[in-house]
Amino acid sequence: MAFENLSEKLQKALRKLTGKGKISENDINQASREIRLALLEADVNFKVVKKFIKTIKAEALGKEVQESLNPGQQIIKIVNDELTKMMGSDTASIIEAKHIPTIIMMVGLQGTGKTTTVGKLANYLIKNKKARPLLIAGDIYRPAAIDQLKTIGASLDVPVYSENNTDVVAIVENGLMQADRNHNDYVIIDTAGRLEIDDQLMDELKNIVDVAHPENIILVADAMTGQVAATVAEGFNSKLKLTGLILTKLDGDTRGGAALSIREVTGLPILFTGQGEKLTELDTFHPDRMASRILG
Ligand code: GDP
Repeated sequence: MAFENLSEKLQKALRKLTGKGKISENDINQASREIRLALLEADVNFKVVKKFIKTIKAEALGKEVQESLNPGQQIIKIVNDELTKMMGSDTASIIEAKHIPTIIMMVGLQGTGKTTTVGKLANYLIKNKKARPLLIAGDIYRPAAIDQLKTIGASLDVPVYSENNTDVVAIVENGLMQADRNHNDYVIIDTAGRLEIDDQLMDELKNIVDVAHPENIILVADAMTGQVAATVAEGFNSKLKLTGLILTKLDGDTRGGAALSIREVTGLPILFTGQGEKLTELDTFHPDRMASRILG
């Protein structure tokens, strides 16, 4: 699990405080130092860590003692609440269109898991909203990506719109017309990825936005890339106005900090996390549950 090390270190830092009848400023300082190190080692953005520690200290020192909690428990609660806030507090969801179809455009760099996540999201919508989605194959430069999407569509019994040409704007327009004809309630557009952000890719994505007017523009980011994921998200967001993020590969042996700081760095909500290669391995992201899981 991505947060094993972080969990262990935070729990260790906080364990020293539990059971103490009274906690001194010195105890708080020492715990803060250990929490700071644990977060930095987990690859949480250093500015985010700085702000986090400052809040924890201020809260811990200024807090009136609640009768129901001993001082150690109170600090654990403060850390838990701040971790939750850092990850965005509320659970975010797909923005629904007033009239069907709700359009979801998926963007991201190559290899992040974008095409797989299109399938996972379709599966999620079918299971949770009884949806009838249509997928549009807009990752036209990699023929393998179109085949991959078709295979995913077949396994879910979901139609995939594709064309054998390189005019992706026309493909998206035609796909949307098919969705109208067939009364699909959701359309998920897979788009091209590249190894890094470049102007040509952004122009192409902007052209798609201009014809599709998607309610949702979701960046698929690979949690294994750590803080790079946050930088990539900022890059895409400055050009496209993203509505949310999906973090993939949280099942991997990552340091996990990307997930913790990406919300704070970008201001964008994390909607889901990918927890494996299978189409069922997509979880709704609950900041509070994630915080509790990290603190054990
Ligand atoms: P794309 O280039 O962004 O469309 O990426 P793909 O969807 O082709 O995925 C790249 C690789 O990542 C594939 O081997 C996927 O099976 C794998 N993958 C995608 N999501 C996850 C995830 O959440 N966890 C794990 N472990 N692997 C994933």
